[in-house]
Amino acid sequence: MLATALTATLVGLEAHLVRVEVEARRGPPLFELVGLAEAAVRESRVRVRSALAQLRIYLGECSVVVNLAPADVKKTGSGFDLAIAAAAAGALGAVPHEALEGVLFTGELSLEGTVQPLRGVLAQLLGARARGVKRAVVPRANAAEAALVEGVDVRTAGSLRELVEALNGGGELPQAAETAQPEPLRAAVPVDDLADVRGQGSARRALEVAASGGHNLLMIGPPGAGKTMLARRLPGLLPPLSNEEALEVTAIQSVAGLLSASRGLSRARPFRAPHHTVSEVGLVGGGDGPRPGEVSLAHHGVLFLDELAEFRRGALEALRQPLEDGVVTISRAHAKATFPARMLLVCAMNPCPCGWMGDGSGRCACSPDRVRAYRAKMSGPLLDRIDVHVVLPPVEVTALQAAARGEESAAVRARVEAARRVQRDRRGRGEVAGSTNASLAPRDLERVTGLCADGARMLAAAVERLALSARAYGKVLRVARTIADLDGSPAIRPPHVAEAIGLRVLDRGPLAAAA
Ligand SMILES: [Zn+2]
Repeated sequence: MLATALTATLVGLEAHLVRVEVEARRGPPLFELVGLAEAAVRESRVRVRSALAQLRIYLGECSVVVNLAPADVKKTGSGFDLAIAAAAAGALGAVPHEALEGVLFTGELSLEGTVQPLRGVLAQLLGARARGVKRAVVPRANAAEAALVEGVDVRTAGSLRELVEALNGGGELPQAAETAQPEPLRAAVPVDDLADVRGQGSARRALEVAASGGHNLLMIGPPGAGKTMLARRLPGLLPPLSNEEALEVTAIQSVAGLLSASRGLSRARPFRAPHHTVSEVGLVGGGDGPRPGEVSLAHHGVLFLDELAEFRRGALEALRQPLEDGVVTISRAHAKATFPARMLLVCAMNPCPCGWMGDGSGRCACSPDRVRAYRAKMSGPLLDRIDVHVVLPPVEVTALQAAARGEESAAVRARVEAARRVQRDRRGRGEVAGSTNASLAPRDLERVTGLCADGARMLAAAVERLALSARAYGKVLRVARTIADLDGSPAIRPPHVAEAIGLRVLDRGPLAAAA
């Protein structure tokens, strides 16, 4: 007899539906699995046979062939077990065929038949919904994320026995929303607030401008100047995640295996700060599966690279494509996997190898050659993707203690949201293609800048004095547009231009940052 069941496999974050066809007939004992399945999927036979045997459904007494279709999609992971077991039970007459129709099954089985949790259940369900699937059965331990998918009747199974009984009309499996364990109440975690940062006025302003216009940011300063502290507070300056954004963030965390059983929707903007020893695969994704990297885990949030000069060159080079396209593409023999990677990049580095250059104490003994080599690690193409650079002065502890508490994040975020609204409206009116000033195309840039005559004269003088490249000129204009938006000004006026030039420290010469 032939029976079929539906399941899904992920290529990157994209779900492909897979039809599991099982044929069982009298004959020599045989259990074959065909259809471009990797080793982990082929091992499914062992688990399925054992799990079914617990229910006295014996595959060992007949010839069983499992086909996974379509054959041109590579099948990875261990989530096929449940669909194979359900279809095999159907082929042996142990469950009615019609009970399998139109239902997506996903889950790994243990040898004794318990249904094990999986990575990527949320992305599978979202993909299945987009392809018209209305019913699904997932592992009970994935209930919290599965309950987020509206429009699909998602049931959870704890064991193969439960599933087979339900398919035979022995009661309904519980809905995902019913079985999701409530998230344990967490003690109120103090949120990193900008008010904790005392002093560092120019860096605080740079954060606000970066958050408003979606500009990538470089902070140059000595150890202890608060670079990490500032970067951590950037997600809190961005508007809250929309529902759609939160689903994307949660789906990526699920594929990466970072979602605990009780965690539902991730509401916080991600903040990722990989160590400088991170590999290229760790940073941009890849490997077995493939898995998302730090750039995708930071999607809709902030990616912070501290000690930028210490990162491997190859890893930094690999950042170029995601920064350019907002997605990571990982090429595989049979498919291209993609993961979204739209984030704010924040980099931090010391002004020189020892960190004390320019602090006035004379502590720095780095030779100009060493400083140049150190700075050169920050490759041109990466620097090209960074709009705002700011220098943090060394901070005296006494000055910090004396300084008043800074403005709170909520107040800054209100201005950021207002400035972002202005940008969204420009896009809404069809004036520009990009939703932030950082993503303004060159052809849109000239049209929407509204540069006033005095501002234009000031910018022309700066171009001459600082020998700005065309690219740097464009970046000054984008940043100036953001500053004008923060100011509620339709025109870019001289103060906006002046401040934008001030936020382009590295344009003032390779070693200017130390002066
Ligand atoms: Zn030094």
